[in-house]
Amino acid sequence: INSEHVQMFKAHELLQKLYHHLLVHTKEGQQALQYLHQRGFTDESIEKFQLGYSLPNWDFAIKLLQKRGFSLPILEKAGLIIKNERDQNYFDRFRNRIMFPILDAKGRTIAFAGRAIDEHDSPKYLNSPETSIFNKSSLLYNLHYARSFIRKKQQAVIFEGYADVISADKAEVYNGIATMGTSLTPEHVQIIRRMTDNIIICYDSDKAGILAAYRAGTMLSESGCEVRVAHMPNGLDPDDYIKQFGSDKFRNDVIGASQTFMSFKMDYYRMNRNLQNEGEKLQYIEDVLKEIIKLDSAIEKDLYLRQISEEFSLSLEALKEQEREMSDQGS
Ligand code: ATP
Ligand code: MN
Ligand code: MN
Ligand code: MN
Repeated sequence: INSEHVQMFKAHELLQKLYHHLLVHTKEGQQALQYLHQRGFTDESIEKFQLGYSLPNWDFAIKLLQKRGFSLPILEKAGLIIKNERDQNYFDRFRNRIMFPILDAKGRTIAFAGRAIDEHDSPKYLNSPETSIFNKSSLLYNLHYARSFIRKKQQAVIFEGYADVISADKAEVYNGIATMGTSLTPEHVQIIRRMTDNIIICYDSDKAGILAAYRAGTMLSESGCEVRVAHMPNGLDPDDYIKQFGSDKFRNDVIGASQTFMSFKMDYYRMNRNLQNEGEKLQYIEDVLKEIIKLDSAIEKDLYLRQISEEFSLSLEALKEQEREMSDQGS
């Protein structure tokens, strides 16, 4: 084992404990704790996910870790401290933020995400940079806890944010994971596929989230996964939804009512299109036919062709003919 890595793991472990202590047991952390409670985070969640609070100081982590014999260049490599190029002094990366420890699949803390408490503070989320122990494109938040549930249930739920995973966990949805605020990568897909090929995408129901769901769903289904998409009303995200409507409604009306990826795509192609307009209507039909071509099952093909035929009063024969022509061109 690389001794540099050992120091990096140890530093994260130590800081995680201290940040958590500061949040839960000190006067300095009171405001942060109050913020979390107001958002609906329970003490159980704060405990399970070991949430913490970093002080506004510029050198809290530095002093503490230096006193315990950690080397500053290694802490810099771990992404915990930053070197000021002008005066060569180091300072703490995370200050005055809610700290979300990021665990690897073995349950070791390898990074942090720090959320601003003040709404005007930017960026909203400050993450550890990529390091030799933290690879964003292969890390899935909460995988360490979710893995056994994903395997048992043969289903994974993918969220956009840490808060969504934690609220879902509170709502007894234990098979939730999230990317590190980045889009889903082929590495993520491989990791998920090793556990299950049933995926529910539960991204924010805003424009960015819907586009990201379309992209992630396309990647996952092309890799052979069975994809469903969960939807929440008027731009809400899962965390907002659970706070507003409660856990039962989230499990039943969001996760339980997820739609097939095909049906999501049909809605998606409809968005921003005026189907009263002849040209846009034809474009929509073409988009859907392109998806129908890709379906394996003849029964499914028939189902969606009939749906289009009824909705737009087109003859089934014409649609089937068009579908055949398009698939001949494609092959
Ligand atoms: P919250 O509920 O705390 O406002 P969220 O998870 O709903 O957070 P979104 O704005 O929906 O936040 O963003 C989704 C995810 O994208 C976040 O959880 C985070 O991982 C990432 N993210 C958002 N803003 C930033 C940022 N400024 N820098 C880096 N990552 C970010
Ligand atoms: Mn979002
Ligand atoms: Mn969100
Ligand atoms: Mn949110």
